Amino acid sequence: MTTSLFISDLHLDPGRPEGIQLFDDFIRKKALYADQLIILGDLFEYWLGDDACEYSGYQAIAGSLAILASHNTKVFFMHGNRDFLVGKDFALSICCQLLPDPTVFRLNDQNVLLMHGDSLCTDDVVHQQFRAVSRSSEWQRNTLAKTIHEREEFARQLRMNSQKGNAEKIESIMDVNQTAVEDALLEHNVRLLIHGHTHRAAIHKFQLAGKTAHRIVLGDWYQQGNYLVHDQTKFSLLSYPDERVLATVNISKASAATLKKHLA
Ligand code: MN
Repeated sequence: MTTSLFISDLHLDPGRPEGIQLFDDFIRKKALYADQLIILGDLFEYWLGDDACEYSGYQAIAGSLAILASHNTKVFFMHGNRDFLVGKDFALSICCQLLPDPTVFRLNDQNVLLMHGDSLCTDDVVHQQFRAVSRSSEWQRNTLAKTIHEREEFARQLRMNSQKGNAEKIESIMDVNQTAVEDALLEHNVRLLIHGHTHRAAIHKFQLAGKTAHRIVLGDWYQQGNYLVHDQTKFSLLSYPDERVLATVNISKASAATLKKHLA
C-alpha cells in the first residue's frame, strides 16, 4: 500500500519567508516518509517562467523538493492558476512529474479525479475567460518570449486586477459550481474528486447517479499549513504543524468503484 500526501495553495512567496520555512519543515518531517507527494497547484504565489526561478527567489523551494527525489518520494505537480507557467525544465530540475488538469489518478486500487479546482468555478466568468486564453500554447509562448522584467510587471498587474475583481465578487461565485463538479466526475467515471483553489478545506459527501460521491478540498497555507494523507482506504485532512484532524473519511475500494460498474 502506498502512502500519499496531497497539498495545494501554499502560495509560497519569498516575501513570506516563514511560509517557505514551514514548507521545508513539511518536506523534511512528513513528505520524506511518504511514498508520494501530489501538489495540486498554486505552490507558488506566481511563476514567471522556469528561467526566472532564481530571479524570483524560489531556489530554496526547488531545493526542498529536490530532496524528495533522492529519498524515493515521488513528486507530482499540477498547475494552479498562479503557477500555470511551471514547465518541463523546472519539473526536470526537481525530478517531478507534471500532471495535466484534470487527471484521473490511480491511488492504490482506486481511481481519483485530481484538479486544481479553478475550472470548477464556472460562475466566475471573468476568470474562465482568462483561463481559456492563458492556457493556450500561443499565449504562453508569447508571454515567455518577453523579458523577465516585463513578465514580472504583467504578473503584478494580473494580481492587482484579480484582487480588485475578487473583492467585488460574491462568495458563491468564488466557490465551485456543484453541476460542474458532478459533470467532471461523470465525464471521468469516478466518484472521488480532490482539488484545491477555493481554500475551503473540507470533505463533502453527496449523491451522484444514485451512489455516494466525495469531494475533498485542500486548504491554503496562509494561517497554517494543511495536507491530506491517504493510507489504505482512509483520507484525513490535517493541519500542519499541529496535526489537528480537520476531517476524515473512509472510502473503501467497493464504494469507490467506478460509476459505470454500478450503473451496469
Ligand atoms: Mn488557485
